[in-house]
Amino acid sequence: MPPHPSPLPPFSAPYAPDDVAMAEKLLAAARLSDAQEGRIDRIARRLIEAIRSNDDPLGGVEDMLREFALSTKEGLALMVLAEALLRVPDARTADQFIEDKLAQGDFVHHETKSTAFLVNASAWALGVSARVIQPGETPQGTIGRLTKRLGAPAVRAATRQAMRLMGSHFVLGETIEAALERARPRAEHPSRYSFDMLGEGARTAEDAQRYFNAYAYAIEAIGHAAGNSPLPDRPGISVKLSALHPRFEAVSRERVMNELVPRLVDLAKRAKAFDLNFTVDAEEADRLELSLDVIAAAFADPSLAGWNGFGLAIQAYQKRAGEVIDYVDGLARKLDRRMMLRLVKGAYWDTEIKRAQERGLDGYPVFCRKAMTDLNYVACAQKLLALRPRVFPQFATHNALTVATILELAGSSGGYEFQRLHGMGEALYAQLSKDRPEIAYRTYAPVGSHRDLLAYLVRRLLENGANSSFVAQAADESVPVEALLRRPADIIGAANRACHPDIPPPADLYRPFRKNSRGTEFGERAALDRLVGDIAAGQLPARKTVMATPAQAEAAIAAARAGFRHWSATPAARRAEILERAADRLEQRQAQFIALLQSEGGKTLDDSISEVREAIDFCRYYAMQGRKLFGDGEEMPGPTGESNTLRLRGRGVFVAISPWNFPLAIFTGQVTAALMAGNAVVAKPAEQTPLIAAETVKLLHEAGVPAAALHLVQGDGKIGADLVAHPDIAGVVFTGSTEVARLINRTLAAKDGPIVPLIAETGGINAMIVDATALPEQVADDVVTSAFRSAGQRCSALRLLFLQDDVADRMIEMIAGAARELKLGDPADPATHIGPVIDAEAKEKLEAHVARMKQEARVHFAGIAPSGNFVAPHIFELRDASELREEVFGPILHVVRYPAEALENVLRSIERTGYGLTLGIHSRIDDTVDDIVARLKVGNIYVNRNMIGAVVGVQPFGGFGLSGTGPKAGGPHYLVRFATEQTVTVNTAAAGGNAALLAGGE
Ligand SMILES: Cc1cc2nc3c(=O)[nH]c(=O)nc-3n(C[C@H](O)[C@H](O)[C@H](O)COP(=O)(O)OP(=O)(O)OC[C@H]3O[C@@H](n4cnc5c(N)ncnc54)[C@H](O)[C@@H]3O)c2cc1C
Repeated sequence: MPPHPSPLPPFSAPYAPDDVAMAEKLLAAARLSDAQEGRIDRIARRLIEAIRSNDDPLGGVEDMLREFALSTKEGLALMVLAEALLRVPDARTADQFIEDKLAQGDFVHHETKSTAFLVNASAWALGVSARVIQPGETPQGTIGRLTKRLGAPAVRAATRQAMRLMGSHFVLGETIEAALERARPRAEHPSRYSFDMLGEGARTAEDAQRYFNAYAYAIEAIGHAAGNSPLPDRPGISVKLSALHPRFEAVSRERVMNELVPRLVDLAKRAKAFDLNFTVDAEEADRLELSLDVIAAAFADPSLAGWNGFGLAIQAYQKRAGEVIDYVDGLARKLDRRMMLRLVKGAYWDTEIKRAQERGLDGYPVFCRKAMTDLNYVACAQKLLALRPRVFPQFATHNALTVATILELAGSSGGYEFQRLHGMGEALYAQLSKDRPEIAYRTYAPVGSHRDLLAYLVRRLLENGANSSFVAQAADESVPVEALLRRPADIIGAANRACHPDIPPPADLYRPFRKNSRGTEFGERAALDRLVGDIAAGQLPARKTVMATPAQAEAAIAAARAGFRHWSATPAARRAEILERAADRLEQRQAQFIALLQSEGGKTLDDSISEVREAIDFCRYYAMQGRKLFGDGEEMPGPTGESNTLRLRGRGVFVAISPWNFPLAIFTGQVTAALMAGNAVVAKPAEQTPLIAAETVKLLHEAGVPAAALHLVQGDGKIGADLVAHPDIAGVVFTGSTEVARLINRTLAAKDGPIVPLIAETGGINAMIVDATALPEQVADDVVTSAFRSAGQRCSALRLLFLQDDVADRMIEMIAGAARELKLGDPADPATHIGPVIDAEAKEKLEAHVARMKQEARVHFAGIAPSGNFVAPHIFELRDASELREEVFGPILHVVRYPAEALENVLRSIERTGYGLTLGIHSRIDDTVDDIVARLKVGNIYVNRNMIGAVVGVQPFGGFGLSGTGPKAGGPHYLVRFATEQTVTVNTAAAGGNAALLAGGE
């Protein structure tokens, strides 16, 4: 059944508006009367004193933080330990992991000050554990001896016990029944509850179904235990949209609307049957518009009419929070319904900042200073309070000043509640209940097994441990109460102080050296629509490429030789300027290049944007490096009366041979590096992608590269071989297969005359090693991205996945389930995750490999491809890594299991391939990571993330062994390889003696 259409046009608001303009408005609205401020002070002070005097034996998280602040090594180790320990199934890895973390802190000398049970337990477990490990012992040796002395099981048991205690502190129950039992009203002022089923976002359809079932089951159970009070004095449930759909992302909107809306309506109807409070949690900023689409469509469903329990969470750290309230109010008004709105500050702040920087956005969707979030929270609270009773505001905070401010703003008419997280804010709300029994509060109560609690626990520990957090400051006796009472408006002071001085706008991430390339946030509908429109309008008319004849190739080299003299004499600053101009033009014409990458290279939207950005970054990075390296030269030290200068200069004519898989970025990188170093260039792009190359050369010429300095020769391998064999070339830069690199090397070696350098970047049989401490959801995301994105046609792509056998089944299941959710199809459709492979020949080769693997290996997943040059993702399990004999350049993943004690064999298998391009490691054991990094000769190693998408100047790219010669593209040593060095020594005393020395006197 198609979802009910939304009663309002979709939500839209500027994604990342200017902080200063927002601060002006917020500051102007923040002032209250002296009398009001006085009352806020009094109440907040009382609440803070209650928090500080609390010595409840069950302890709040405050106690634990007082003992192990996040800023200490112990605190960090504790957090990492908590995050991973409970999911490690095998004793060996658990012991290694515990020992690794204990070695980082000073738990032994950490005598506990607090009487709190929880803290004692943690400190005891960790302290006892640490004491059995003597200083100076090596990790492996220690584990061995510990096991002998009965130490390891004791350590493991004690630490697990401590982690369990932390789990029960933050989680109300492992099952909904247990949670309901624990939530049964006993106190004088019972709390309302909102139950939350723990877990990460769904990666697979099965996960989404499991979460749906868990929610549905919980609603039933909560409903039966809900009692007779009317809303809002009834329990509720909080649901996460990302748990209910495996591709809850903006580009999959159509699918999400068709599949998720009915699911949400179904759950909401169940909640309505018991008149519960049903809240949709708020997630990341790029999902906000999509969430509101889903929520609006579900809320409008006529079956929900007459029920006042539907609601959602709104994050005040988002700059769009005010507009979200307006939108939701409009919705409620239009449908003449009531809504329950939870106002939070927001739980993903660090993630939001990182994402905006990575995507090169124009600004941040969230505030960068906490006081701005606090200001906005109060502004949003005022808005919500004014919308009573259509809206029932729910203020979720553990901050005493925020609570006191809201009490003041709310007046005495009621119609709202506070909310806290289970395990936090207990003392504050206990005091509030004592002082103001009429004010209701609700406890957000996570429910789930300890295995599922990890991600949630880390969020809470991060939140509480952050220096800026109210809970951490309230727990720190050295922070005076006055500091906690400082108003956000006073902390900001003036609007121009709204931005954080240490968090530059994403565009300025690499300032003062260079500008970051601009990207697009797909979660911003307006930006995505604009881009898609520009791409459609940017299609270039079809053109035919004329392949060069050998005579034309010869002529190009001769012309380049002629052009070299003038170009190499052009000052480096001027050459750099031209490259920067080229970068700006590429940015202006981004849509046209994306259109070309899609039509000629079969690239998806995401891949195309990344590629254009990489090309832009190459231009700017090499311009910046070139200015530094090719300027006036470096003065060398020496005896008086003489000057010595070392300079770099171009070699002559460089031949640049580039591949089809990055037809813009690698092409541009090679060409601009050679040009920046003062060489003339003859570029030969892959014959599959000539138009992109032609357009890029045109752009470089327009930017100011003289026609004589840059020549394009279109053709196949044969013409490339002619260029390489030419006696007049001074260097070759090549990216492609190892075999062709070898041929080029032999051709160059066979020539008489000067020895010509070759910079070669070739392939790899890239591996990822995953041990039992890794988070399955993160592994699934990173494996799917690394192995299948770009249809696996990246030299960095993952080919061989080594999984510790204790966790292999669960990991494979999740990876295969996630692969099943990928959409193959037209790369011009933003919803497409995987486009075609480059041509029929590539497809044929890949299909032959798939056919062989189906015979020889265990098939875990075999996707179905549409007609055309498509190859669907496949996952095969091999008995031994050696069964994969060559690089397979497509979306085919090979899995090998390994026993925990046989990591050494894994490392040997990787070494035996002879390649060394990229490597992924997923492990929380630092020692394991360090050992692998030290041991393997691999050019780019990625720990606990995906292993593709190296960023220019951030992750210089290139490998060892069969994977290439180096130096790394996009790194500080690259340009030097394109140059020769010249030292000029001048005897400054030759005419008239050493006047400078004599003038120095005594
Ligand atoms: C009942 C309940 C339900 C919740 N549901 C959700 C939810 O659905 N979605 C969600 O995202 N969160 C949710 N949260 C988590 C919530 O976002 C945090 O608990 C809350 O932000 C902590 O705020 P505080 O007032 O208690 O603490 P404070 O210490 O006053 O505020 C901390 C908050 O300030 C913000 N902040 C910190 N540093 C900066 C900075 N440099 N610049 C800008 N802002 C900064 C962050 O939002 C941080 O969480 C919920 C919390 C509760 C209590």
